Amino acid sequence: MFSYATHLSCSKCGGTSEINQIMQQCRCGAPLLVQYDLTKLRNRLRPDDLRNRVYSLWRYHELLPVQDHTHIVSSGEGMTPLLPLPRLADDMGIFRLLMKDEGISPGGTFKVRGAAVGVSRAKELGVKELAMPTNGNAGAAWALYAAKAGIQCHIVMPLDAPHTAKVECAIAGAHLTLINGLISDAGNTIAQSIKEHGWYDASTLKEPYRIEGKKTMGFEIAEQLEWQLPDVILYPTGGGVGLIGIYKALLELRELGWIGDRLPRLVAVQAEGCAPIVKAWSEQKQTSSYWSGASTVAFGINVPKALGDFLVLAAIYQTAGCALAVEDDTILQEQKRIARLEGAYVCPEGAAAFAAARRLRDSGWIGANETVVVLNTGAGIKYPDSVKLNLPILQPGQFLPSSHLTDNKD
Ligand SMILES: *Cc1c(COP(=O)(O)O)cnc(C)c1O
Ligand SMILES: [Zn+2]
Repeated sequence: MFSYATHLSCSKCGGTSEINQIMQQCRCGAPLLVQYDLTKLRNRLRPDDLRNRVYSLWRYHELLPVQDHTHIVSSGEGMTPLLPLPRLADDMGIFRLLMKDEGISPGGTFKVRGAAVGVSRAKELGVKELAMPTNGNAGAAWALYAAKAGIQCHIVMPLDAPHTAKVECAIAGAHLTLINGLISDAGNTIAQSIKEHGWYDASTLKEPYRIEGKKTMGFEIAEQLEWQLPDVILYPTGGGVGLIGIYKALLELRELGWIGDRLPRLVAVQAEGCAPIVKAWSEQKQTSSYWSGASTVAFGINVPKALGDFLVLAAIYQTAGCALAVEDDTILQEQKRIARLEGAYVCPEGAAAFAAARRLRDSGWIGANETVVVLNTGAGIKYPDSVKLNLPILQPGQFLPSSHLTDNKD
């Protein structure tokens, strides 16, 4: 069997739904999650069977929802490198620091994982027209994959979203509208049109398949470490689908018997200017409250209220993880340090997660001998404007300024 998906189950009320029909949220409003026949799969698939498979996230097809491989829409997403960062590890005093680098994904962010599986599944179910709000990167990825699938795409994005994301939607032929507000405002606007026109709602966790794509980050981390899990995984958290997905992946692997009982401590990292999950965690709550006046340079995590907040918080509590907010200045400083020590230009969201690792090591929450995986969710070159330049300009015939003789360490 290509997929072992059996049905959908509600993440809140436990109700189940048939899988071979278009479904959005559960009747109770909570996200639906894909369930698999892991008992059957346990006897049919072994980790070694993966070795010679396609080098993309589709190598895990038994644990993905697409039932017929001819419906797959792929640009080669997944199987990004898990890179050791020895100089940064040294600088932070962490024994082993690894970066899961999603920056080299097609289009430059991990959002293609959700788009690949989400769009493939939408195509399989016969969807012709979909709609979604986005902070930029998800819209860009979905616009391009929808174009490849021949699906019409309607996107609403904040006016101050990164320019690159707007261009990607436009070039792919998506219907892109900007809103002078936040992703939550974009969501309210598009919900109205979805109701009116009967479009497929591809909003975060309002369809069950995007998370299945994102969970493959968890499979890959486990496989790339030969099924020996790290002690800590840090993830820059907006809607939280990546973190929920990684947790779901680890639970599935555990049920398959491919990993041991002990799971990594999951850390949700947010920006000081938008930290609803961190606030909820510090108050030991099960859900978050809307964060007013949300603002951060790490655009992908500027989400004032996530539909799946209770799932993010549960993943943190269940793994004895934590949640941490980082100031924009610290994010940009860390971003620069990573480039100078490791030659890696990570996105601000990824830099936030690294800054959090540094802080947690300083406080002793991360021990000196632990293995730490940080998700760099995208490439810094997607939105370079957060880097301020102040460059000397010469006229022809002039010589290099004295700054070339001094140490460039600021
Ligand atoms: C969307 C996004 C995030 C946050 O992802 P979620 O899974 O929604 O929490 C982090 N980083 C980047 C670069 C993003 O585009
Ligand atoms: Zn329900």
